[in-house]
Amino acid sequence: MKFQLALATTLLLATEGLSRRTCGNNNPPVELIEQAILFEGMTKLKAGSDQADDDLAARAKYVPLHIHNVYVSQTRDQGYITEQDVQNQFKVLNDNFASTGIVFDLVSVSYTENKTWANAGSGSAAELAMKKSLRRGGYDELNIYIRPLRSGLLGYCTFPQANVAPNSDKFFLDGCDVLFSSVPGGSTVPFNEGKTATHEVGHWFGLFHTFQGGCTGGDFVDDTPAQGSATSGCPAGKDTCRGDQYPGVDPIHNYMDYSDDPCMTEFTTGQTTRIYQMWDQYRAPKW
Ligand SMILES: [Zn+2]
Repeated sequence: MKFQLALATTLLLATEGLSRRTCGNNNPPVELIEQAILFEGMTKLKAGSDQADDDLAARAKYVPLHIHNVYVSQTRDQGYITEQDVQNQFKVLNDNFASTGIVFDLVSVSYTENKTWANAGSGSAAELAMKKSLRRGGYDELNIYIRPLRSGLLGYCTFPQANVAPNSDKFFLDGCDVLFSSVPGGSTVPFNEGKTATHEVGHWFGLFHTFQGGCTGGDFVDDTPAQGSATSGCPAGKDTCRGDQYPGVDPIHNYMDYSDDPCMTEFTTGQTTRIYQMWDQYRAPKW
């Protein structure tokens, strides 16, 4: 009987949903915001000219991907995910980024049982130790750590930065951290279709939240309408920035909003252009 009660409690905890999306990337570095403003200006200048950015949006790129599952113990409620879960997450990433021309190539998968690492917070010594041990590839390769996090966040990720020296702490920390139960079929309803990883990887490519800075701020991408606040659920017609200067309703279906997973279905052409602008500036190997 005791065992059954304990089991029931565990299952309850494991299937507990989150009421809203929580991501650790609400404050992009000033330097990256300035770069985004420059890119937006360049795109506007080129629009309609012979050098329009259409060619940027039509590009394609293979990105090597390394997925690390770091768990407390090898059970589904303690952070462990199966190899099939990894494959399902990998497929969702490629499906979601298909319109951008980005294709991920899953080159390594690692499994690590380590309670301290599994629960390490952003910026902690344990996080650095974990990533110094597990990170693979260069600055142009994506590392995703799927783990319990224990911070109330669905995920967080590093934005691209200038002058990241190989084997520096910044280099090792580069990558995305994703809540294990957000993978496809996970227990964090309604954030369990694997789109948390898509959203976080959007940050890795240099995209901001679509509601960044509210109506007067923005993500500095021209074709994502102004948005005053993060979206919860999937409210059709939500329009937080009204008036002639703010055409269009909130981009609630955008991967860079906070909507529920089933609601998120798109990156825009402008975001695709931005991904390649940021890629060339920060992540493309320089030789
Ligand atoms: Zn985010």
